[in-house]
Amino acid sequence: MNQSFPRPRKALGQNFLSDHNIIRKILTTAHLQPTDRVLEVGPGRGALTELLAAQARHLVAVEFDRDLAALLRERFAGQPQVMIHEQDILQVDFEQLLGSHTYKVVANLPYNISTPVLFRFLEERQRFSRLVVMLQKEVGERLAAQPDCSDYGILTVLFRQWFEVKREFLVPPGCFFPPPKVDSVVISLTPLVASRVEVGNQALFERLVKAAFGMRRKTLWNCLKSGGLAEPEQLEQLLLSCSIDGRRRGETLAIEEFALLSRTLSVLLG
Ligand code: SAM
Repeated sequence: MNQSFPRPRKALGQNFLSDHNIIRKILTTAHLQPTDRVLEVGPGRGALTELLAAQARHLVAVEFDRDLAALLRERFAGQPQVMIHEQDILQVDFEQLLGSHTYKVVANLPYNISTPVLFRFLEERQRFSRLVVMLQKEVGERLAAQPDCSDYGILTVLFRQWFEVKREFLVPPGCFFPPPKVDSVVISLTPLVASRVEVGNQALFERLVKAAFGMRRKTLWNCLKSGGLAEPEQLEQLLLSCSIDGRRRGETLAIEEFALLSRTLSVLLG
C-alpha cells in the first residue's frame, strides 16, 4: 500500500479494497454509461473512484475523513467531472448535493453505518437509477432474504417494496486492506417503476411492518397489539378479514400479505 496514506481508521469502517478483480467486477455490475452521473459514498483511498472518474460523466464522492478527502481533492484536481465533498453521508442534503439529476450509486459502504445509509437511500430512492453497494454479508443477506428465514425483516420488506434486490457476489476479507473480520457481499438495487404492492397508506404500511417485526419471537397478534396501531377488537377484525392467522410470526408474511393488512387496516381506521 502507498506509504503516504494515513493509517486506516477503524472507527470510520476503513477497509480499503485492494483486489483489482473485485473493483472491476463492481464497475461491471454498475452497468455504467458515459452519460451516467455517479455518487460514491466513502471513496477512501480512491480505488473505485479512479475507475468511476474515467467512466462517468460526473462523479460526486462524499468522504467523511478530512485527510483522505484532501488527498483525493489533490489527486483529482485536474478532472473537473470529479467533485470530492468532505461530509458525513448521514447528514448530507441530497437536493443540495445532487440537484434534480438522476444518479447511480456505487459504494463500498462503511459497515458500521451501512444500515442507516441504506435507509437514507430508501428515502431518497427517486434520485437513483441503480445502486451497487458492498456490505457486510449479514446486512446483504437481510436485504435479499426470503420470507420464513431468520434474515427476513424490516429491511427486506421495505426495500422489496421499491427495488429489485439482487445478491451479486461474495467478497472474502482478503480482498481488503486491512481485512475486515466479516465476509462482504455486493448487492444491486434497481428501482421499480412503482411500489411492488398497493399498500393504501405508506406511513401505516411502514408502521405495520415495523410492529410485526418488533418482537422477534412473538406472534403477529402480540406484535400488532404492542405496536399500538389500533384497538385489539379492530386488530382481531383485521386478521379475520385478511384470513391471516395471528399465531403466525411476522417473518412468515410475504410482502403481499403486509400490503393486504395495510390496505384493510387503512379502511378499518377510516
Ligand atoms: N471506497 C474505498 C474502497 O473501497 O477502498 C473505501 C471504502 S471503506 C469500507 C469506507 C469509507 O467510507 C472510508 O473511506 C471512510 O472514511 C468513509 N466513511 C466512513 N463514514 C463515513 C460517513 N459517515 N460519510 C462518508 N464517508 C464515510
